[in-house]
Amino acid sequence: MADQTPSPEQLTRVDFRPTGKGWLDPHVEFRKGTYCYSAAPKNLTALGLPNPREWQPFDQDWKLPPDWKETILAGMQERLDRYRSFRVFMDVCVRCGACADKCHFYLGSGDPKNMPVLRAELIRSVYRRYFTAAGRLLGSAVGARDLTEDVLKEWFYYFYQCTECRRCSVFCPYGIDTAEITMIGRELLTLVGCNINWVIEPVANCFRTGNHLGIQPHGFKDSIDFAVDELEEITGVRVDASINRKGADVLFVMPSADYFGTPHYYTLLGYLILFHEIGLNYTLTAFASDGGNFGLFTSHEMMKRLNAKVYTEAKRLGVKWILGGECGHMWRVLHQYMDTMNGPADFLQVPVSPITGTRFDNAASTKMVHICEFTADLIRHGRLNLDVSRNDHWNVTFHDSCNPSRAMGLLEEPRYIIRNTCRAFHEMPENTIREQTFCCGSGSGLGTDENLEMRLRGGFPRANAVRYVRDKHGVNVLACICAIDKATLPPLLEYWSPGVEVAGIHEFVGNALVMKGERTRTTDLRGEPMATPKEEPAHA
Ligand code: SF4
Ligand code: SF4
Repeated sequence: MADQTPSPEQLTRVDFRPTGKGWLDPHVEFRKGTYCYSAAPKNLTALGLPNPREWQPFDQDWKLPPDWKETILAGMQERLDRYRSFRVFMDVCVRCGACADKCHFYLGSGDPKNMPVLRAELIRSVYRRYFTAAGRLLGSAVGARDLTEDVLKEWFYYFYQCTECRRCSVFCPYGIDTAEITMIGRELLTLVGCNINWVIEPVANCFRTGNHLGIQPHGFKDSIDFAVDELEEITGVRVDASINRKGADVLFVMPSADYFGTPHYYTLLGYLILFHEIGLNYTLTAFASDGGNFGLFTSHEMMKRLNAKVYTEAKRLGVKWILGGECGHMWRVLHQYMDTMNGPADFLQVPVSPITGTRFDNAASTKMVHICEFTADLIRHGRLNLDVSRNDHWNVTFHDSCNPSRAMGLLEEPRYIIRNTCRAFHEMPENTIREQTFCCGSGSGLGTDENLEMRLRGGFPRANAVRYVRDKHGVNVLACICAIDKATLPPLLEYWSPGVEVAGIHEFVGNALVMKGERTRTTDLRGEPMATPKEEPAHA
């Protein structure tokens, strides 16, 4: 942690008293540690996005285009016409307050504008002013505000303090999805060149090379070859991981972090062991080398542009269906948008597991199956020889990553896999898991360093629940199925709940799966000594 990072004792002193400032007052202070840096002009230029220039949020002059106000209002009109949900969300909120204390950023900061209801009011107030008769006539008396530069700056500050996690929507009696409002807010800001570099640089890289890190095809191949070599050292078995192989049955797409970062990399090793052991006829592709999609955090159009490569590669390679790895934003896009946005994928078949014969009708439209659904099905059919004692060094809890849990309902399969690969598993408190899971505090492209204080504040409710099971049950690892979580939870836990590691589910699968012809394993996939078996299972 940086030296200037406040201590946990300081950050837990959250002041929830009213500020004395009216909510219509848009002025915000861009205090170090709470906001993200602006997108570099070269990245905006690479994507053909408007108004590339040097600027920073703390500047007085944001160098907006002369017609910025007309552009935003025209953008609002267009989106009100195109997205019925947006218009409904602008109209139906009754300010009941059920969502008010459900946002992790509000709980961690005490800033009332981080209440979902007020976050939405930032844009709703402008909607009222320009798109409703009451707002045009009565102005601030009905909560309407002029669109000023200060309002725009306020949007930037608070729409980049929302991780689009959708926890608030679970509690709204009208089903208002503040994440969708944030997405529209960010789209509008993008129209005048106001976005953050931690989102736009990965998007530009992805557009150029197919992955957020800017790794070129030969670099992708090197990474996979390295993983294959390392697996041979651990297991004595050489697996095949073909790339760009035409005629394979299945295309496997994963987040780029799986072959680049840790602890993600151990998840990749787990996939490779699994696919080898069941004899899956699959291929990777060096061109759709990242299923992750930061376009989701930019605009619907950008999401579509980046995701197109998945179906394009599936078609080029002539596979039957697609299997997707552990990634949150990738699955949000695939599950909620892909078939209508980039489809129909009529050239693919409804996925059928070649091992168990299970037909995944839930993927009849997208033709894409989540790796946890696939692996859980293998386990249920008794197709994997699993030695659970090989994970006895792990005492596991599971974090429902926001997108796979709330956006696609993937709640049981990861737990089923954990229970069949690990003997010690303890759930966090009920109101912090499943649909009510708390965000890592750094999703939607906010996992950068300059806003670390806000990340630690927003991540506190999640980390606090982890600390509870650490202290009560001795939990020492937090499992999750999201690439962003695997990157952002380690520093969060180091700060709030030291002694708890982070792991992907398929790392446990790779440890437990006994391969035909393997030599006696002395280390786990991390290169740590293999567990000494315990006597009693410890599920709870
Ligand atoms: S719960 Fe829904 S209706 Fe109530 S204040 Fe929040 S967004 Fe508005
Ligand atoms: S979507 Fe998540 S981060 Fe955004 S307002 Fe709702 S709870 Fe907060």
